[in-house]
Amino acid sequence: LSSFSNLPNAPVDEIFALNHAYTIDADPRKVNLGMGVYRTAEGQPWPLSTVQKVEEEQSRENNCARHEYLPIEGDSVFTAAARDLMFGFNLNNNTETPAEKAAKQRIASVQTVAGTGANHIGAAFLAHHYKPKHVWMSTPTWANHHTIWDLQGIERKTYPYFNAVTCAFDFGAALAVLEAEAVEGDVILLHACAHNPTGVDPSKEQWKAIAELCQRKHIFPFFDSAYQGFASGSVDEDAWAVRYFFNMEPRMEMCVAQSFSKNFGLYGHRAGAFHLVTNGLNPAEPGLVQKNLCHIIRGEYSMGPRLGSTIVKRILGDEDLRTQWHGDLTTMSSRLRSMRESLYNELLRLKTPGTWEHIVNQIGMFSYTGLTLKQVLALKDEFHIYMLKSGRVSISGLSENNVAYVAQSIDNVVR
Ligand code: PMP
Repeated sequence: LSSFSNLPNAPVDEIFALNHAYTIDADPRKVNLGMGVYRTAEGQPWPLSTVQKVEEEQSRENNCARHEYLPIEGDSVFTAAARDLMFGFNLNNNTETPAEKAAKQRIASVQTVAGTGANHIGAAFLAHHYKPKHVWMSTPTWANHHTIWDLQGIERKTYPYFNAVTCAFDFGAALAVLEAEAVEGDVILLHACAHNPTGVDPSKEQWKAIAELCQRKHIFPFFDSAYQGFASGSVDEDAWAVRYFFNMEPRMEMCVAQSFSKNFGLYGHRAGAFHLVTNGLNPAEPGLVQKNLCHIIRGEYSMGPRLGSTIVKRILGDEDLRTQWHGDLTTMSSRLRSMRESLYNELLRLKTPGTWEHIVNQIGMFSYTGLTLKQVLALKDEFHIYMLKSGRVSISGLSENNVAYVAQSIDNVVR
């Protein structure tokens, strides 16, 4: 008898399966609106100008230690820069104030295998050492959140997020459910900015109310930050919610999973960090947390990868490169915004039935179009346009060359 014949039929990842279907589609009209990766106006991947500069510099350096192991906790210069970018500390280390120093001491940071790894290490750490009864996720959320927490054996609960009628964040419904059902010691997963898949974020006033609820009910905030700088184009604006929670009095415990895949275009290099924020009452606690995070990392994969984090560290550590990187972020976020407008204008021009303002109101990489499953499948089968079954499109797949075709095809399936 073979041992593995009765395995459950594990689900296929929708996004990667869709990407494969797109790749093997021979139709010249095909359009990929599936995977959340940045593309240029010509539909090509874009190594950021800053990243290219650092790569050239590194190839000249020919440093013989460039393939060595990192420490288990990762490159400490990288994790410190990652932390400073997230929490709003001055990235020029020589200008640290005493208040900043104290604030930094609340945080335990480790390098991770990009954002997914940060979500995973955070979930594993909390499952072992915090033992939440439930983890709360928005409906909808990034599908991998479900997988990551399910694998840790923590019961998942959902709070309403997207209102299909208003195409906006359903603040009232979300708060009502959390107020009534979330219990002390639960974890709540929050998208720091540019919510995936909806492109809809809470307003600052709404964030304040969510923070107040977490503090009052002792719910542990778990921020997932995968798009810092991608939503508004400003790294500070996009970190507003994380920094608000971090600076609240009395101090809250919380954590952040940070990805550099999108904002540095380092997708395959797996650069990321996990930060656990203590309440600061016990100065020995962050060190203890970091040791336990390292224990998990060592047992799983020893340490994160070196190349991507070296590039990020170099850019964040240099004022000129950082300025140039902000320009790269503006290049990407402006192109996304202009493609939203192009798609919206085309749909208006065609008088496509329905309302489409949400396409320009939503932010970040994705738009939740409101297209139905039937329409999504028709777009794929008849027009070779690939998007998620939920109707989520990755705006970066649009270009001046294909936006009219995409709008016309949407118009056809909607009528
Ligand atoms: N969280 C969210 C919400 C995301 O959209 C992504 C990227 N798809 C990630 C985390 C992590 O991505 P990565 O592991 O490539 O950094």
